[in-house]
Formats: sequence, structure tokens, C-alpha cells
Amino acid sequence: MGEKQYQLQPLPYDYKALAPVISEDLLRLHHDKHHAAYVNGANAILQKFEKARKEGTDLDLKAITKEYSFHFGGLFLHERFWQNMGPTGKSGGKPGGRIGDAIEKEFGSFERFKKEFSAVASSVEGSGWAALVFCGHIERPQLVQIEKHNVNVTPQQKVLLVLDVWEHAYYLDYKNDRGKFIENWWNVVNWDAVEKRLP
Ligand code: MN
Repeated sequence: MGEKQYQLQPLPYDYKALAPVISEDLLRLHHDKHHAAYVNGANAILQKFEKARKEGTDLDLKAITKEYSFHFGGLFLHERFWQNMGPTGKSGGKPGGRIGDAIEKEFGSFERFKKEFSAVASSVEGSGWAALVFCGHIERPQLVQIEKHNVNVTPQQKVLLVLDVWEHAYYLDYKNDRGKFIENWWNVVNWDAVEKRLP
């Protein structure tokens, strides 16, 4: 032991900061319970590997690597999600600068991007994410729909902006109205943070 473990990254703002788009109660539950569970899950897998290697026992490697991808995906996407949001009243709106230009160039307009990204989010079957990624091969932003935390992930495409549409992300505040959550969520997007991710 003594090796590095995964850590639960604290929120970059107060638990009340995103209200009323995301209430304090929901943010606490989402960060302190759901996000934390993926961090703990990933660390538990590291321990299983360490134990089995030490004892020379076999693992179900197909199952454990799948589980690792799920938990690591969960912890990574939640980190990005918290980072790409900012306090109500100081966030949202139409982005300018390099990110605004990159979006307009790829999607034609910000409105068109918003419409496509929202549709990616609303059409997730069950649990998943909408993501704006940057594909280095073509140096262009692209949309991705991630199922769970790890299915349809495009390796090496840099994650610029994500929206969590698992039920746990909105149910407490919006019940089953995912569409309303998505609509309101645009008001807490931190475009400065998104732009910083743009290569
Ligand atoms: Mn979540």
C-alpha cells in the first residue's frame, strides 16, 4: 500500500451556489453520496487487484475491468460536471471567446448547438450523459452520448462539457421531468471553465 488512491474532489463552489437550478439538498446528495460511491468503488477495485496479486489468487478479469471502467468513468465525469458549472446569476448565457467561436463554426450557431446537445441529453435511454468533446484528429468539437458512465466513450477525445442525466441528477428537484432540468441547466454552465479545456 502507500500507493496513490482516488479522491473525492470537493465542489469548486458552495452547496447552495447552483440553486434554484440544482438545490442544496440535491447537490449534497449527488456529490457526497453518488459521486463518492464511484470514488469508493474505484478504490475498492484497486484493493481487489492488490490483494489478489499479493496472495497470488485469480480474479474475474473480464468483470473487474468492466467494473473499473464504470467507476472510473463515474468519478471522472462527475469531476468534469462540477467544474463545468458555476454559481447561478454568474453563469450560463451565450459563450463568447474561443469556445463561442468554436461552437459557432462547428454547429452554425449557439442555438443550434444548444438544441443538439439538449437532444443528446434528453434521448439517453436510462442513465447516461451528454458530452461536448474535442477530437484532436480533426481539431473540431463533437457531440457524444455516453451510456452509464463508460459506454460509447470515445478514447482520447477531450471532454469539454458534460451534463449528467442519470435520474439521481435531477429527480429530487424535477421528479421525472428531465426536459425541464436540461432547460434550466443551461443557466449554470460555466463557459470560462469549458473554454479552458479547449486545446
Ligand atoms: Mn451523477
